[in-house]
Amino acid sequence: MTLDQLYTGLLYFLFGFSALTFIASFFYTTPYGRFKTTQSRFEFPPVIGWLLLESPCLFAASLTFFLSGGNSTALVPLIFICIWQTHYFYRSVIFPLRISKGSKPVALSGIAFGVVFNSLNGFLNGYAFAHAEHLLNPAWLTTPYFIVGIALMVIGVSINIHADNVLRNLRKPGETGYKIPQGGLYRYISVPNYLGEIIEWAGLALAACTPAALSFLLFTIANLFPRALAHHRWYKKTFADYPKERKAIIPFVL
Ligand code: NDP
Repeated sequence: MTLDQLYTGLLYFLFGFSALTFIASFFYTTPYGRFKTTQSRFEFPPVIGWLLLESPCLFAASLTFFLSGGNSTALVPLIFICIWQTHYFYRSVIFPLRISKGSKPVALSGIAFGVVFNSLNGFLNGYAFAHAEHLLNPAWLTTPYFIVGIALMVIGVSINIHADNVLRNLRKPGETGYKIPQGGLYRYISVPNYLGEIIEWAGLALAACTPAALSFLLFTIANLFPRALAHHRWYKKTFADYPKERKAIIPFVL
């Protein structure tokens, strides 16, 4: 089997897996964070857990980008791999270091899933950046796809980081419970961090126009959209004074 065939096979797998995840997530909410009700035998502090589960994406993307015989020295692919690695450095190192100390530990099963998924996702996107022919032309940087896509990414990242910062500051040292987040987009929706994440990857899918970036966007929606609805239901059930006008993930709509 060639690397190209492996890429195509895994890409189809991820599209199919995203569809399954979307359907399943309406019936089953992955038990981490507030939905973690039992203690697992093997658990890791959040800093270690996030590092272990997200960092494979950094290595997998580097491997396929630089070592798969693609265009790893061309300007546009290099810009995309830098953007990708910057996000994953943030998600696997900076985000966990800044997360609230009272956060729930991460179960080994969650880490195992994260390692497999992030290796696959890193492989696909690193390979796609290095092999997409349309990214060989530096003029791609002046197309509306790239410009609007990057603008969307900046908006998404800003929303995501601001929302996660609000959550991080809710707990005082030693606290582990949950409070009603306020300010920013929390005035309108329960999970702006998830909305920002989805906008960020929609931006990448548009800016790069690769099937791999699209597959990750679809997986992110499949994973986070039903979870956003579950968070919203949980907030309304948990807090009698939860703001009535607040929606789940789309301001004024849903
Ligand atoms: P959550 O919003 O569930 O939790 C984020 C952090 O904030 C946790 O430390 C959590 O603590 C704490 N927290 C959440 N709500 C409250 C509250 N009301 N009061 C006090 N503390 C609170 O986000 P996730 O853990 O699901 O995701 C973290 C980041 O990772 C997000 O930016 C998300 O977008 C991204 N992500 C991306 C995915 C993708 O598919 N691309 C998939 C999953 C996450 P505790 O752990 O105790 O609940």
